[in-house]
Amino acid sequence: MTDQQRLRRSDCPALVLNADYQPLVACPPSRWGWQEALEAVLAGRVRPLAFYDRVARSPSTSLQLPAIVALKHYVSQERPAPLTRFNLFLRDGFRCVYCGRRQAVEELTFDHLVPRARGGTSCWENLVAACRVCNGRKGDRTPAEAGLPQPRRPARPTQAALNRVGRRYPPDYLHHSWADLAYWDAELEA
Ligand SMILES: [Zn+2]
Repeated sequence: MTDQQRLRRSDCPALVLNADYQPLVACPPSRWGWQEALEAVLAGRVRPLAFYDRVARSPSTSLQLPAIVALKHYVSQERPAPLTRFNLFLRDGFRCVYCGRRQAVEELTFDHLVPRARGGTSCWENLVAACRVCNGRKGDRTPAEAGLPQPRRPARPTQAALNRVGRRYPPDYLHHSWADLAYWDAELEA
C-alpha cells in the first residue's frame, strides 16, 4: 500500500481544522487517522493544507498523506460538547471541585453530585471532577451530607467554551495516551 512500509492505523494522523482554520477541538487537538483523512480528501469534504512525506498507493493512483486538513463546511462551535470523561475534567480545569486541588489527570475521578444509588444520572449537570480522597469521603452521599462544599451549579458547555479552556493548556500538557480517552467514553451520558 505504501512507499516504504505498511502504514499502521495510528501512523500519520491528520490535524483537523474547522472551515475557519481553527481547531475543531482544541484540547486535545482533533486528529483523524490517515485512512479517514484520505477518504475525506477524496470525497471532497476537506481541503488538505499540509502533507507528510509519505504516500499511499492503490493500483491506480498514489496519494500523499495529508498532515493538516480543513473542513469545507463550518461546524458550529456553539454545539453542545460531547460528554466524555476528558471533557468533564477539562470543564472543571483538572481540579477537584471539592478541595480545589489541581490533580494529574490520572488521579482525577468523576463524581455524581446526586449519587447514582439515589437516582442521580450521568449528565453534565450531575457530574463533576473530584480527587480520589474527596470522592471516597463523599461516597453515596450528597456534598452537604458529606460536609463538602457545594460546587457551583455544573452545566453543559458548548464546544467553543471548552476550546477556550483547552487553549490554556499547551499541546504537550497531556500524556499522549490521554488523547484517546477524549473519545473512548462518549457513551458516559446515560
Ligand atoms: Zn478533592
